[in-house]
Amino acid sequence: VKKQRVDKILGNLGYGTRSELKRAAKQGRIKVNDEVVKDNGLQIDPYQEKLEFDGEQVNYREYIYLLMNKPQGVISATEDRHDSTVVDLLDIEYQVFEPFPVGRLDKDTEGLLLITNDGRLAHELLSPRKHVPKTYEADVLGEVTEDDIVQFSKGVTLEDGYVTLPAELQILNHTPSPEGTMSQIRLTISEGKFHQVKRMFESVGKKVTFLKRVSMGALQLDPTLPTGEYRELTAEELVQIG
Ligand code: URA
Repeated sequence: VKKQRVDKILGNLGYGTRSELKRAAKQGRIKVNDEVVKDNGLQIDPYQEKLEFDGEQVNYREYIYLLMNKPQGVISATEDRHDSTVVDLLDIEYQVFEPFPVGRLDKDTEGLLLITNDGRLAHELLSPRKHVPKTYEADVLGEVTEDDIVQFSKGVTLEDGYVTLPAELQILNHTPSPEGTMSQIRLTISEGKFHQVKRMFESVGKKVTFLKRVSMGALQLDPTLPTGEYRELTAEELVQIG
């Protein structure tokens, strides 16, 4: 395992700038293996050696994994000129890890979004060859029918000519509305074309008016997580998606 400088380890975890950490070391606030360290240039193995700052053990890690219930109105990106992004919603203690969203949800789409700095995992989940299933719940203007279920299971042709892979559509409910019948549906797709769910319904003459992702691979949206909030993945969830 690679050894790293104490100030680098602490800096990457958001404990301060290099000069702040130099001062902290002089003040005796940093300890390695229970000994005060005055020289931050000391190299240690952060997984094996005990590092403390202000008497608290530093929880070393390289990767973070966050499950967000994305709200409407924010962009699935790390930065944007005009709008706030899902990364802007994170506490600074997480932003220092330079995380990014795994895949994209539209600005007006809600629901499950994994945010991490683990590029390997992101690649696994997004690789088109892996066909990781994603499940959405939607309100659709128009009456979704048994025929739509059959069409979606065979693949529908989008307006640009692309034929979608087989998808599983379930009708949850039909309700009347002033604009006509609304349908509540659940749809599982195994690919991720731009605006795919909206475009699939357009191809059968219907309009998605509300869209929320509820799962991605083995990862489910936590029903206790309010919209706009996030939490770290549990150890169990990490094993499931790993
Ligand atoms: N399909 C869409 O149309 N939008 C999303 O945000 C996700 C899937």
